[in-house]
Amino acid sequence: MSLLAREPGISEQVAGLGAEWLPEERLSRHTSLAVGGPADIIRVHDVHRLAELGGYLRRRGVPWRILGGGSNLLVVDEGLPDVLLHLARGEAMAFAGNHVEVPAAANLGTAVLECAKRNLGGMEGLIGVPGTVGGALRMNAGAYGTEIGDVVRALTLFHGATGLTETVKSESVRFEYRHSSFSPDDVMLSVTLELPNSPYAVILERIKQYNQKRRASQPIHERSAGCIFKNPSGHSTGKMIDELGLKGTRLGGAVVSERHANFIVNRYQATATDILKLMDLIRERILKAYGLELEEEVIVWKG
Ligand SMILES: Cc1cc2nc3c(=O)[nH]c(=O)nc-3n(C[C@H](O)[C@H](O)[C@H](O)COP(=O)(O)OP(=O)(O)OC[C@H]3O[C@@H](n4cnc5c(N)ncnc54)[C@H](O)[C@@H]3O)c2cc1C
Repeated sequence: MSLLAREPGISEQVAGLGAEWLPEERLSRHTSLAVGGPADIIRVHDVHRLAELGGYLRRRGVPWRILGGGSNLLVVDEGLPDVLLHLARGEAMAFAGNHVEVPAAANLGTAVLECAKRNLGGMEGLIGVPGTVGGALRMNAGAYGTEIGDVVRALTLFHGATGLTETVKSESVRFEYRHSSFSPDDVMLSVTLELPNSPYAVILERIKQYNQKRRASQPIHERSAGCIFKNPSGHSTGKMIDELGLKGTRLGGAVVSERHANFIVNRYQATATDILKLMDLIRERILKAYGLELEEEVIVWKG
C-alpha cells in the first residue's frame, strides 16, 4: 500500500488531475510473467496534466515508477509501496511523409503494423516484442538486427525531477544494448520515428518470417518476460544455459524453458521468489562454468 492510500478522497483528487485511482492492484495481473503482489496504480488519462500529477505526488513525498505493458518486469511477491503510473492509450499516431509521431502508450506491434500499412518499414524485426512503445524506448528493445533506437528522431519526455516536459533530439540520448540513457524518472510521452519507404507486401512478408522464427525458437504461449539475462559480449546466454543442461530445470512453479534456455516460464503458478531463486541458480552455474557474471535483462522491482 502506498502513502497515498491513506489520503481521504483520493479517488476524487486523482480524478481531478485527469487520472484514475486503482488501489491495491495485483501486479500479477499486469505483468506477462504473471507474478507480483499488490501496488496502487494511477492510470493517467490526460498526459498534458502529468506535471500537475507529478507535483501532487512530490508534495506528498510519494515515490512512483512507470508501468508500461509489464512484459519486462519481475515484481516481488510482497508488492510495492510505490505508486505505479500507467499511461492510458488515447491519442492516435500522426503520420507526415517518412515521419510518424507515436504515443508512448501505444502497443509496439500495433505501431509496426500501422506504419506498414502506410508503406513505412524498418521496424519489422520488432513485431513480436510485446509491450508499449514507451517500454521499448526505455529498454531499447531489439530483435533480429533491429533496435528501436535506430529509428528514433525525437522524443517528448516528462522529467519527474523537474516537472518539465521537453522534446529532445535522438542525438542527446544514448541507446545501447537493452538500455537507454534516460533517467529513471523520465516518462516517455511520445516519440517521432523516421522510417524508410517499403511496399506493404514486402513488409508483411518480412513480418511473417520473423513471426515464424519467433514461434520456432521461443515459448510464446507461456508466461515469461522474454530473455531473463543479457548476453555478455561475445557470448550467448541461452547457449551457455543449454550447454549446462539446465533446460527444463524447475524450481517451485518456475521452469527454464525447453524451447529457449534464456527464458524462464511461469508454468505452475510460480511466485516471484521461485523465479528469483531459479535466476540465482543459473547465475551461479554460469559463473562457475564460464567465469562470467550475468546481468539481468528483466527489470526486477523490489519494495
Ligand atoms: C514473449 C516475450 C518476448 C520478448 N521478446 C523481446 C525481444 O525480442 N526483444 C526485446 O528487446 N525485448 C523482448 N521482450 C521484453 C519486453 O517485451 C520488452 O522489453 C518491452 O519493450 C517492454 O515494454 P513494456 O511496455 O512491457 O515495458 P514494462 O515491462 O512495463 O517496463 C519496462 C521498463 O520500461 C519502463 N517504462 C515503461 N513505459 C515507460 C514510459 N512511458 N516512459 C518511461 N519508462 C517506461 C518501466 O518503468 C520499466 O523500467 C519480450 C518479452 C516477452 C514476454
